[in-house]
Amino acid sequence: MNVFSPQQFKPAVSEDVWVPSACALCYGTCSILAHRIDGTVIKIEGNPDSAVGKGRLCGKGVSGIMTHYDPNRLRYPIRRTNPKKGLHEDPGWKRISWTEAMDEIADVLRKVHADDPRKLVVQRTTTVTASRVPMHAFGSAFGTPNFSVSGGGLHCGNGAHLISGIMHASWSIVPDFEYCNYAIFFGASKGHSAGHASCSNMAKAADARARGMKMVVVDPLCNFAAAKATEWVPLRVGTDAALALGMCNIMVNDLGVYDGPYLQAKTNAPYLIGPDKLYVRHPQSKTPLVWDTRTGSARPFNEVPAADMALEGEFTVDGTPCRPAFHRLREHLRKFSPDWAERISGIPAATVRRLAKEFATEARIGSTIVVDGVSLPYRPVAAIAFRGAQGHKNSVYNFYAVDLLNHLVGAADVVGGCLGFNPTSHGHPETGGVRYIPTAGPDGLMVVGSWMGYHYPYPPPEPRLPKNLGLQDLFVIGMTSPFLDSTDREQMWEKFDVPYRPEVMINFGANLVMSIANKDAVAESLSKYKFIVSFDLFLTETSNFVDIILPDCSYLQSLDGRANFPFIFSLPGGLGEWCWPIRQPVLPPDGEQRQFAEVLLELADRVGFRADLNAAYNAWLDLQPPYRLTGDNRYGYEDICDRELKNNFGAERGLDWFKDNGLIKWKKKPEEVYWRPFVDVRVPVYWEFLKPIGDKIAAIAEPRGLKVPLEYYDPLPDFLPCRSHCCNKPGFDFYGFYYRDVVHTNSFTMENPWLDEAARLDPFSYTIAINRAEAAKRGFADGQQVWVESESGRKVGGRLKLTEGIHPEGLGFAAMCGHWTDGQPVAKGKGVFYNDLLDLDFEHASPVNINLDLCVKVRVTPAEHAP
Ligand code: SF4
Repeated sequence: MNVFSPQQFKPAVSEDVWVPSACALCYGTCSILAHRIDGTVIKIEGNPDSAVGKGRLCGKGVSGIMTHYDPNRLRYPIRRTNPKKGLHEDPGWKRISWTEAMDEIADVLRKVHADDPRKLVVQRTTTVTASRVPMHAFGSAFGTPNFSVSGGGLHCGNGAHLISGIMHASWSIVPDFEYCNYAIFFGASKGHSAGHASCSNMAKAADARARGMKMVVVDPLCNFAAAKATEWVPLRVGTDAALALGMCNIMVNDLGVYDGPYLQAKTNAPYLIGPDKLYVRHPQSKTPLVWDTRTGSARPFNEVPAADMALEGEFTVDGTPCRPAFHRLREHLRKFSPDWAERISGIPAATVRRLAKEFATEARIGSTIVVDGVSLPYRPVAAIAFRGAQGHKNSVYNFYAVDLLNHLVGAADVVGGCLGFNPTSHGHPETGGVRYIPTAGPDGLMVVGSWMGYHYPYPPPEPRLPKNLGLQDLFVIGMTSPFLDSTDREQMWEKFDVPYRPEVMINFGANLVMSIANKDAVAESLSKYKFIVSFDLFLTETSNFVDIILPDCSYLQSLDGRANFPFIFSLPGGLGEWCWPIRQPVLPPDGEQRQFAEVLLELADRVGFRADLNAAYNAWLDLQPPYRLTGDNRYGYEDICDRELKNNFGAERGLDWFKDNGLIKWKKKPEEVYWRPFVDVRVPVYWEFLKPIGDKIAAIAEPRGLKVPLEYYDPLPDFLPCRSHCCNKPGFDFYGFYYRDVVHTNSFTMENPWLDEAARLDPFSYTIAINRAEAAKRGFADGQQVWVESESGRKVGGRLKLTEGIHPEGLGFAAMCGHWTDGQPVAKGKGVFYNDLLDLDFEHASPVNINLDLCVKVRVTPAEHAP
């Protein structure tokens, strides 16, 4: 045996650096430091200098190294040889050169561009936030209105984001962890799991709990937040609005607790409402009227001091009987008694009363506090909702009802209350860059200062005969749409005379077959495309439908001038710092990998729309002279990133400066964080605008044979049941639902061997959670193999995990597992593919925001063998 001294093993180190960049294992985009030694990244840590993550990474972020170095990564372009597309068709991949790939793709795009650019669908994953600008700029310059984020919005935020935009001018809501004393979460786990600003919020939430913040988590599952909460309140799946409305009723009608001055000054609560449920308006200016208690007359809202506006009373204006919106709301809430809430949600009436009382008491209405020398309203309570609450047919009302709790007590964007993620930025102190502030729009209601969806949440566009495939021209409250792939898409397009069909798709990283709904529906839709090109890291289940796959760079090989969407998305709310990090390549491409953003620029040149693309980039990045892109000049992606950074932070802080420093940051002012008292805008506690939208949609849709359930378009929230709540089939006695596993990001990370190992150690990641007592009643054992069957006959198989931590009627599935592609051997065959139970059509979507209903009534039966 040869014996060597340790010295002999030690390689000569020529390079040992920590490179600041950004994670992309989920859309949290935490700032990282990648430790590179001699060209190999050996470790990834959080960047303590950054507010995005605050030096923390979750298990996925730490494991990113294994995704990057996965031997199954694609390294060169491939083309299918088998023209037949199907879930189980072998595409017969063959390697092709970039020249061949680009020639063919450009040729296809050139033809569709000349024929009808709307036939192009631009699809992307939401996991990599930085894909948004390049993909959308490309699509809008090309001339298509057809964008989608695969299952992104349908499973996540169609309801949450839009309502957060209307009520908080932001993409999401979160408690003001620094000052909140009582937070109630509905189907949300902000600060305890994945999601926006997840790692930063984990630090803030932990500090808040240590400080004594009481946390109540309302959820069918004792989830990641509930596990750390003061109290877990299990509820029947999809009934969040019932509890929230029951609490609102107790607060306003039994306890008489509400913040009158806030409602008068900051909401449309005093606006007079006529018998038609609409505002009573000034005959000439059409401005909504309020009742002026000082003069005893109806006057435009913008001419009356807030304190003089009546919140209640019966009035007559020009012969029209009317009442303030708050009066109507108060009356409306009376029907939501605690007993009614108990019947719907399963939560005892006494608990509904107690939670309402606690929330009302802890709100400390009327109190103020001094923060950094500024005296501000102090309402240390927050009601938070997210994916779980809004992922239902009753999506809008579930979220609206929860947020109403905040507005009734004035706990919106004030100290201790419910905060939007940074809706007001006064800009960089030296350059003024990245400045945005909400403004007052039609009827004095708030218009966001910054937004990342397809259209501003308010004012919604006028419904019209749709020209886009997702029908968002008609369903104008919707963002992501199911109708690109739904089983009724062709009937819908025919009904509305959509004059073209999708033919070509450019996909960035989305695994549509797994992420939208049942695989057969999506497969049928994808097989109709004449040509699909996809930028991917790995082969996925969707690859079976792709014509050419281009090997993308991983996040450790990529450049993004904006690593996250600034600042309403991933930057934590509350006090602290503004922070703009970049993502920069830590490693070069391996093989023939190329970053998608550069490839898109080349395709625009080849097809011949570079001037339009330059104009689109100017608009998307808000580039101002001298940094605007001009004419059809051929800028590289590095140059575009450099221009955006200089545009925002000055000529001396371009890409080179950011590569050295990783990020720029500056202190937030209290007037930015707690902006509500400083910005003269109102938000709707009475959604008057919803009714005319519903009526207009019905006027277009119903003559064409589509019944629009107008009860979803009433200005005041209600509990309206999901399909699952109406299923009475014998044996179908569980509500199936899925939840985001902290170990995984949707279906994306299952190929990562470290995360797979963690998931296999976790009793719940790859199993189906069932209530222990309910399982015992049916003779089910822990670990038993079962079939789970939906009302419409779809089936998935898996192994049961018995637990006390789930509502007796719930059946919980973690993440989006169950891969079957050979391209991801680590992921293959692990866990359960919940989405395969989901139907995909108008009947299973919210008729307002077209969010997919994610709960399914199911039957569980023993399986003789592993399904
Ligand atoms: S939360 Fe998301 S972005 Fe942050 S470290 Fe984890 S995977 Fe990466």
